[in-house]
Amino acid sequence: HFITLEGGEGAGKTTVLHSIMEKLKAIGLDVIQTREPGGIPIAEQIRNIILDKKNTEMEKRTEALLYAAARRQHLVEKVIPALEQGKIVLCDRFIDSSLAYQGHARGIGMEEVLEINRFAIQHCMPNLTLFFDIEPEKGLARISANINREQNRLDVETLHFHERVYEGYQILAKKFPERIYTINADRPLEQVEQEVLKVVLSYLQI
Ligand code: C5P
Ligand code: MG
Repeated sequence: HFITLEGGEGAGKTTVLHSIMEKLKAIGLDVIQTREPGGIPIAEQIRNIILDKKNTEMEKRTEALLYAAARRQHLVEKVIPALEQGKIVLCDRFIDSSLAYQGHARGIGMEEVLEINRFAIQHCMPNLTLFFDIEPEKGLARISANINREQNRLDVETLHFHERVYEGYQILAKKFPERIYTINADRPLEQVEQEVLKVVLSYLQI
């Protein structure tokens, strides 16, 4: 089973993922966690190129292709082998991030970004995607406490950009209701965590 977590900045994906991992392992499930872009050395290197603040001249299609390349390698090297071993794979971000960020927010268009991603992933789509739904302003306020660590990310990616990302996710959630489950992430993290756990267990029929 391939399960992805999606949503904007400060939605709580990473935090909730860490805590539900422990709970899923505790009940004896064979589960691994990973993240995009990254998860394996080649993809982490590509991540560093994309997120390097010095690379401000990177063109949006170049960026989309690099995300797709990182995705391909991560999928082939880590996700698919784990799925073949019968593991549950929980992945922090996947194709919907590209559709929302590069496709919608950066303005390439979701269809075009989907096309290069079809090439990258072939048919390996997530079985279940959890969309962490929170207004960008609230999500960004949550991470502003970490702003020193996160450097000047907010300077380059403005609120307007994050509103477009959010809009992109809302379009996707509407378009793929059978795959994408929307979680109200504008609640205390313990409550979000409880719901995520419930949804995952019910999907796994446990
Ligand atoms: O999930 P995480 O915060 O680690 O993502 C790192 C950064 O990559 C975020 O700032 C996010 O905005 C950006 N990103 C992106 N397009 C993607 C995936 C992530 O711009 N497809
Ligand atoms: Mg995160």
